[in-house]
Amino acid sequence: MKKIKNYDEIIVEPNTLVILDIDNTIIKFNSMGKTWWKDRIEYYQRHNDIKTANKLVYDDWKAILDIETPELLDGNSFHDLVKRIELSNSKLMLLTARDISMNDITLNHLKECDIQINPEDVHYSYPKGKKVKELYEKHKCNKIIFVDDHLDNVEDVELEMKDYDINCYLIDHENL
Ligand SMILES: [Mg+2]
Repeated sequence: MKKIKNYDEIIVEPNTLVILDIDNTIIKFNSMGKTWWKDRIEYYQRHNDIKTANKLVYDDWKAILDIETPELLDGNSFHDLVKRIELSNSKLMLLTARDISMNDITLNHLKECDIQINPEDVHYSYPKGKKVKELYEKHKCNKIIFVDDHLDNVEDVELEMKDYDINCYLIDHENL
C-alpha cells in the first residue's frame, strides 16, 4: 500500500484496470469534512448505543447526499489521471460502498462533477476485496490499481488480492 495526497503519484502502466472509490476519493460534499463521520458517531453515542448511533449517522449522511451537490476533488489532477488511463489503453472503473439502491443518485452526482463514465463501470459493494477480484477476473488486464480513502477498504482489497499484481493506494486529499 502506498499513501498518496493526490492522483499525480499514481503510475498507470499499459493495460491496467484502475478502480477508484467515489466518496472522499474523487468527489466530496462540502458539509462533510474528513472527520465528519467519526464526529457524528461520537455525538450520537453520547445518548445512544453504537448500533443506533451508526444508523442515525447513516440517515444524516443520506439526507446530505439527497440535497447537496458534490464537488470534484483536485479536478485538474483527476482529469490528468483519466487522460493517462486512456493513453495507456487502460480501463477506469468506480467502486463504492454506497448501497446499490443509490445507483440513480450516484450517477447524478458523477454527472454533476463532470465525470464521464459508462454506468456499467460503476460498481457497488462492501466489503470491496471480493468485488475487485470479480472485476479483475472479468476484465483480465495486465495490472490492477485500487484507490480508496479508507484504510479498511484498502486492507480488505490487499488481503483478497494478495496473489495478484495489484498496486493499492490510500489517498488522503489535502483539501478535503
Ligand atoms: Mg471513500
